[in-house]
Amino acid sequence: MKYISTRGGVQGVSSAAAIKKGIADNGGLFVPDRIPLLTEELFSRIAGLDYAGRAAEILSLFLPDYDKDELLADCRAAYKESSFSGGAAPVSKLGEGRYMLELFHGPTCAFKDMALQIMPRLLSRALTSTGEDHTAYILVATSGDTGKAALEGYRDIDGVRIKVFYPVDGVSDIQKLQMSTQEGGNVSVQAINGNFDDAQNGVKKIFGDAALNRELYGKGYILTSANSINWGRLAPQIVYYISAYADLCAQGVIKAGDRIAYCVPTGNFGNIFAGYIAYRMGLPVSKFICASNENNVLTDFLQTGVYDRNRVFRQTVSPSMDILISSNLERLLYFTVGAGKTAAYMRQLASTGRYEISREELLKIGAIFEGGCTSEAQTLSEIKDTYEQTGVLIDTHTAVAARQAREYAERTGQTVVTVSTASPYKFAPAVLEALGHKVRGDRGVLSPLYELSELTGTKIPAPLASLSTKKVRFSGSIDPSEMASSLV
Ligand SMILES: *Cc1c(COP(=O)(O)O)cnc(C)c1O
Repeated sequence: MKYISTRGGVQGVSSAAAIKKGIADNGGLFVPDRIPLLTEELFSRIAGLDYAGRAAEILSLFLPDYDKDELLADCRAAYKESSFSGGAAPVSKLGEGRYMLELFHGPTCAFKDMALQIMPRLLSRALTSTGEDHTAYILVATSGDTGKAALEGYRDIDGVRIKVFYPVDGVSDIQKLQMSTQEGGNVSVQAINGNFDDAQNGVKKIFGDAALNRELYGKGYILTSANSINWGRLAPQIVYYISAYADLCAQGVIKAGDRIAYCVPTGNFGNIFAGYIAYRMGLPVSKFICASNENNVLTDFLQTGVYDRNRVFRQTVSPSMDILISSNLERLLYFTVGAGKTAAYMRQLASTGRYEISREELLKIGAIFEGGCTSEAQTLSEIKDTYEQTGVLIDTHTAVAARQAREYAERTGQTVVTVSTASPYKFAPAVLEALGHKVRGDRGVLSPLYELSELTGTKIPAPLASLSTKKVRFSGSIDPSEMASSLV
């Protein structure tokens, strides 16, 4: 298996090279040139393993140039009990026919840990195997959760330096505190006066600036990304869709071969797209429900075939999904319409902010995806209803999906798995508001966490509780135009 660009013209790239580069030279995203099959034999072998074992088996299919023993060692180190207490991706019950895949037990309490605990190890191996003598300079644009998860994943990794840009008013106070107190000798954090798309476009511009890249090369750096456009981020996410299916089989909820639906709170389309790859491998999925908050550009796309980012950007209680350009959708386009038309649509998106796929193309996508959007009020009432009916506390992002999942289960009677992407403690003020509790806020930034814990009798996750004793290392903000000059 080799990697190719979603926009054509690039082929024969090894998985290590694709992970090292992050994005193809023509601006396209790397995708595998064929999709490995999840045979019955392979599935039952995987089902018998723990999460790290499952991850190593599945990743080895997509990373054929990696040594399998090293992959297993890296997966064991990434998903160890001390990083993911209680297991990496447990499945719990949320209601009749409704389950929850819990992806927030990692070091930063959000699902991005699932990829970012393993990705730095994959990059480190790639640097070695490609004979790289420059330092990999990782640039990240974040709407909150990626930044912290990347910083945690890459801190003090040899041969790597990392810089994270975040929108100054686009992340929660807790996320800000998590990032500004980040430890590690090779890390840097910078706030941007703008929104997430400004930060992401700034990073994309830097990657495309040949002169700047040459200058940095002369100073000993090669630029690479840790955003969800990097295949090294995407591949590890395929694992938990298959893992959850195996767990539901083991719990006797379904039989091998039964089709189930997954409902995913979506922003950049990375998480849900990984599920689509699992489906293309042969995982029995009836539908992927793409759940959006009020930034519903994907809901409209899946319902009408028109992708139009020319709309008002809204700040919501689920900020990690406040995104108007869902970069990974390009990969779905590639698998639906091929490289030539994908390149054309992306050119239209870049010049007009809009493109429209054909009727047949929309039907093809609609066979496996549907979109739904959850309003702010619905998000909050879903948190309250879920807590009152089941005692399960969910965060705002999870609630966006849980609402769509409940409607889907009621409408179709199918088993549906809601992908839960963050600990409720990470978004405690909104969760408290949803539960009808007025935040007192009299104990600093962490006050809402203490209040949520007291109100519900649940425990603050250790990585968040320990923030109270950390020192702020990064402060101040710059304009997007200053991002490039902030690098050196
Ligand atoms: C990043 C994130 C999402 C969105 O995931 P995408 O892969 O960008 O679609 C949803 N919820 C949380 C908590 C996140 O951090």
